[in-house]
Amino acid sequence: MQTDNFSFDLIVVGGGSAGVAAAYSAAKQGAKVALLEKKPFSGGRATDTFVGTMCGLYFRNEQDDFTYSSDGFLAEFAEKLKELSNTSPIRTKNGNKFLPYKQPAFVFLCDKLLTESGVQTFYHTTVIGVETNEDSLSCLSAFHQNKKYSFLAKSFIDASGTALLQTLAGKTPIQDEEYQQSHFSVRVSGVEGSDIQELKLALVYALKKAEQAGRISTALSFTSLVPGQTAIDNIWLKIPITQTWSGTTTKDIGNLSAIEIEARSNAQLIVECLKAFSPLFSNTAIAELAFETGVRITERNQGKEILRKEDVLGAIKRSDSSIKATWPIEIWQPGKPVIMEYFAENDYYSIPNETLTSPYYKNLFFVGRNISADSGAIASARVIGTCLQMGETVAKWI
Ligand SMILES: Cc1cc2nc3c(=O)[nH]c(=O)nc-3n(C[C@H](O)[C@H](O)[C@H](O)COP(=O)(O)OP(=O)(O)OC[C@H]3O[C@@H](n4cnc5c(N)ncnc54)[C@H](O)[C@@H]3O)c2cc1C
Repeated sequence: MQTDNFSFDLIVVGGGSAGVAAAYSAAKQGAKVALLEKKPFSGGRATDTFVGTMCGLYFRNEQDDFTYSSDGFLAEFAEKLKELSNTSPIRTKNGNKFLPYKQPAFVFLCDKLLTESGVQTFYHTTVIGVETNEDSLSCLSAFHQNKKYSFLAKSFIDASGTALLQTLAGKTPIQDEEYQQSHFSVRVSGVEGSDIQELKLALVYALKKAEQAGRISTALSFTSLVPGQTAIDNIWLKIPITQTWSGTTTKDIGNLSAIEIEARSNAQLIVECLKAFSPLFSNTAIAELAFETGVRITERNQGKEILRKEDVLGAIKRSDSSIKATWPIEIWQPGKPVIMEYFAENDYYSIPNETLTSPYYKNLFFVGRNISADSGAIASARVIGTCLQMGETVAKWI
């Protein structure tokens, strides 16, 4: 491409689940769409942190009924991902259901969908500034390979996960006093188990022994397997981080680096302990690291309305919203088991349109984990299935 200025109907910032859904759906409707992503691949948290399971696809109940909560893009994406990953959905004893997936399959599927639908995808492209008129966004500036480019569009979708666009425009995002615990995924090779259940038990046993011996903290003893990625001889571990993210407005620019360094240090310690305390792990080694630590919840955009925890637990419905969010609230804290807060089985709550809409700029919308929500509500609404629905919905407004 020759020019330093690009002009589009829609620019989507961020190629995570929500951004891919939005860009794909808008391009399928005939819009000229650009997707700007700072990494060299799509999927966001779902691929850079090796999450491994898609939640929010099905209604919660005790039956093995895996009917999708939406028959639109969510179902299309999940069916394709299931086939590429060669996995089947799982139901837990609380009736929660999820689809395990393989990280490369997610990356390949995003590339395929974006290419087929005609989205112009700009990888390695980091948005660093916005220009605004009185009541609209006019232009983004982005950095790509040592050069700054201008991107113009009629509409913009912030799928950055971090309330990027309004923050760059000087608006205060929704912040939490404390953010949830992060996790780091690593692949461990040389495991000698005969089935996953045996490995799970050996993992719990070795971690307990390591804790009793004072080699690891209680927080680290909550290390678990990543279902979608794990194979018998090559397991993926989800390792807890004790330091929590302190927010982008913090003066502590070193916080994220400290988290990444702790993650890698914890991974080495855990694998040393597994080798020491279980014969199944005696020949193991770390074979692969996730691209980054998974910080679950960060700052969100202030919208026309804020989705609140009471709305989620009360399963609010809005007649103008087609998004059916089915996953419960999930709270992760260091050294404690995950807390799940439920609404009724087979039920859902709507994501109100106003939580996806900017109160400041008439051509700016939000999708994914940076929608306008309080800390309780986003702890449910952020799951991949719900993010896919948000992207598809907002694309219809462009
Ligand atoms: C440890 C962990 C475990 C989780 N477990 C599950 C689970 O089991 N099941 C489930 O469904 N969900 C899970 N989640 C939640 C889920 O993965 C995310 O909430 C969801 O993927 C968010 O999608 P998104 O598109 O909103 O944002 P993201 O995936 O965060 O995507 C945002 C994208 O924007 C890009 N970006 C940011 N800033 C810029 C910029 N300046 N310029 C250009 N690009 C930019 C980023 O690189 C990223 O690709 C988990 C999350 C974590 C961290």
